[in-house]
Amino acid sequence: MSDTSKTGLSRREILAAGATIPLALSAGKAMAQQAQGQPLIGDPQLPLPASERMRWAIVGLGTFAIGQVIPGFGNSSLSRITSFVSGNAAKAHDLGARYGVSRFYDYSNFDAIADDPEIDCVYIVLPVGLHAEFTIRALRAGKHVLCEKPMASTSAECAAMIAAAQAANRQLGVAYRVHFEPNNRDALRRIEAGELGAMRYISADHGFSADPNWPPHKWRLEKALGGGGSMYDIGIYGLNTSLMMLPGDVPQSVSALYSTPAGDPRFTEVEGGIDYRVRMASGINIQGSSSYCWSPYVSRQRYFGATASIAMQPATTYDDNRITLEGGGGPSRSFTSGDPMSQFSAQVDGFSAAARANRPHLTPGEMGLRDMRLIEAMYASADQDGAIIAV
Ligand code: NDP
Repeated sequence: MSDTSKTGLSRREILAAGATIPLALSAGKAMAQQAQGQPLIGDPQLPLPASERMRWAIVGLGTFAIGQVIPGFGNSSLSRITSFVSGNAAKAHDLGARYGVSRFYDYSNFDAIADDPEIDCVYIVLPVGLHAEFTIRALRAGKHVLCEKPMASTSAECAAMIAAAQAANRQLGVAYRVHFEPNNRDALRRIEAGELGAMRYISADHGFSADPNWPPHKWRLEKALGGGGSMYDIGIYGLNTSLMMLPGDVPQSVSALYSTPAGDPRFTEVEGGIDYRVRMASGINIQGSSSYCWSPYVSRQRYFGATASIAMQPATTYDDNRITLEGGGGPSRSFTSGDPMSQFSAQVDGFSAAARANRPHLTPGEMGLRDMRLIEAMYASADQDGAIIAV
């Protein structure tokens, strides 16, 4: 078939006419296929342009900040990093070049962030013993603060951090990322929907083997920087996640026993392990354990109901959580409910939204204080060979 068969134009005339030819061809029946667009469907949370996002400073560029926190901003919709705060300028500038961050502070000039309008929120990713100091300095500088877990070394420090947030009229959150993790959110949804029947019992086991020669583990074994031992660092996931699954219920008493191996040279300042029980007002018991002396790494939660149970193993990792649902009239099923890695962007976007509206974060400072009081009660109990401590 020749070029002229449909249009009556020669090839030369078609080429000379250029873009007008397709329009001529689209007349008549083909017109029905013209793109016309459609209205916005639903109310999707669209990523904000950079200029409208909340601006974050990351304080402490260690293993967790570099491995998870900073990359997590890459998938966020409401948040972006503008500043790094570090004691190692070369590392900070290297990371700045990789992530397009060009504002830098160190620990001595940190208070100058008060005059930096490019910072709205500060994320504290320092060793625990430094959380309170840098959180309070950031709040006094007029910034909102998301602080890593555990919130601080003592409940008195937690209370001082909350008071500083109130005085500054800024939001203070604790980075309990599991509340933003899709598999754990799905477990909570199923429990709240009654899929397990009435809740009866929760068990929680979390641990790993601490290496005293690896810098990120070394400070965890020193009371001044670690605050406490395995319960502060890893056991807190089990405690906080178990309480997350019992919304509306409150702890009434605590008992605990140390499980630190006798003579282990790693544990001169903090406990190597602890086994605990939390009695809830509903009558449900949470039984948990944490350890710096287990290998391989353990992250296990179990929720027992009157008609079904959920096992999560692993339960609180960065990238590999899953649910096994047993009972309830059907066969046992194992599945995942979403990409665990989304917890990091969901957490910072959740905090950005809360800070922008100046309303409390999903996991506020008060939750960190509650958990610290429970852990202090566990130590008090373990010091008395498992005495029951009212909380
Ligand atoms: P690292 O030791 O790897 O990093 C801590 C960073 O803090 C260092 O790299 C350093 O950054 C800075 N720092 C400042 N002063 C000191 C000091 N005296 N000693 C050591 N470091 C110092 O620890 P992690 O990244 O594992 O832990 C950091 C925080 O994150 C802790 O609060 C921890 O509990 C929490 N965390 C939370 C996790 C979660 O899943 N939510 C997982 C892992 C940790 P710089 O060189 O830039 O100054």
